[in-house]
Amino acid sequence: MSEHSSAATEHMETLAVHAGRRPDPATGAVMPPIHLSTTFERAADGSYTDGYVYTRSENPNRRALEECLAALEGGETSAAFGSGMAAIAAIFQALGTRDHVIFPDDVYFGTSRLLREVLGPWELDYSVVDMTDLDAVRAALRPQTRLVWVETPSNPLLKITDIAAVAEIAHAAGARCAVDNTWPSPAGQQPLALGADLIMHATTKYLGGHSDLLGGAVVSRENDAFFQRIRLVQTVGGAVPSPFDCWLLMRSIRTLPYRMRAHAENAQRVAEFLADHAAVAVVHYPGLPTHPGHAIAQRQMKLSGGMLSIQVHGGAEEAMAVAARVKLFTRATSLGGIESLIEHRASVEGPHTTTPANLLRISIGLEHPDDLIADLRQALEG
Ligand SMILES: *Cc1c(COP(=O)(O)O)cnc(C)c1O
Repeated sequence: MSEHSSAATEHMETLAVHAGRRPDPATGAVMPPIHLSTTFERAADGSYTDGYVYTRSENPNRRALEECLAALEGGETSAAFGSGMAAIAAIFQALGTRDHVIFPDDVYFGTSRLLREVLGPWELDYSVVDMTDLDAVRAALRPQTRLVWVETPSNPLLKITDIAAVAEIAHAAGARCAVDNTWPSPAGQQPLALGADLIMHATTKYLGGHSDLLGGAVVSRENDAFFQRIRLVQTVGGAVPSPFDCWLLMRSIRTLPYRMRAHAENAQRVAEFLADHAAVAVVHYPGLPTHPGHAIAQRQMKLSGGMLSIQVHGGAEEAMAVAARVKLFTRATSLGGIESLIEHRASVEGPHTTTPANLLRISIGLEHPDDLIADLRQALEG
């Protein structure tokens, strides 16, 4: 953390406001300028006065963002990327060919595509398991297993994986445990404290919070040799975020803890309404006591999050009809913004999808929950 935020605190609200922030030394500006310059001056003796050389390698806005993200997750260091997928790719690219990874059967569709279609052909070996079944995780381990990938709550079924248990299994086998913490955000879940080694974020979602920037990040417990390889992929591979996106993301992070509380409060209200509605067959939301992962979620999540999925009675046609009738929700992919979104997930994922045809994925925004419930009611009953 910077000298201006060195007051030791564990409080997320205070960290979110202060981590990585310092008044601009050149002007005293309380909020940081955006450093668009791609190149930095060398002194006559050949040194770089402030340590910056070229923006792909390092940039002041990116450095501030990385400091902030590491502080929020309680990690030693972090690397920011131009998208969530670039952050995921960097973690897998830090492995060697013939290394083996285990990843969950219910996972962000881009993650499984990356493994199946890009990294599999590059000879990274992988197994797909039901990550909520610890025996299945143990059974999938091989001598070459280097990484176990966790996404909890999962996408789109909101399955809950016991992070501490999976991290322990991974460590006993000499592997790392990486957690995609995009959905809960650092305000809702702290995987490093539960034993994970690496955290990945699509900062596009809750950290960005306003559906207007694309970004990703890796946070590491330690600045060790493995993280140094991720840093190498970042700076040499070059999938870095722009200074403007880093600045915008920092602006959003300042309000993250308050936004996450409201997202979770609204989602809980909406989930309870949907659970009682005759047109809805299943509600997937870890905040509901009926959710199979509720007990683990209560233990490892501070907030149940703003995402939920429902399965309506019927098939794709009935689900699409509900989505067609919403007025306040917007029919669109993605999540984590201030506005509520609804999506027929299977038809977005395409022919390889394993998502149930009657499933609608819902991102609960910051509107008043009564208005969200009224809109869903008329859409379900229409
Ligand atoms: C969106 C998302 C990603 C990918 O992030 P992009 O910024 O779209 O590349 C990865 N994991 C999860 C859980 C996501 O929701």
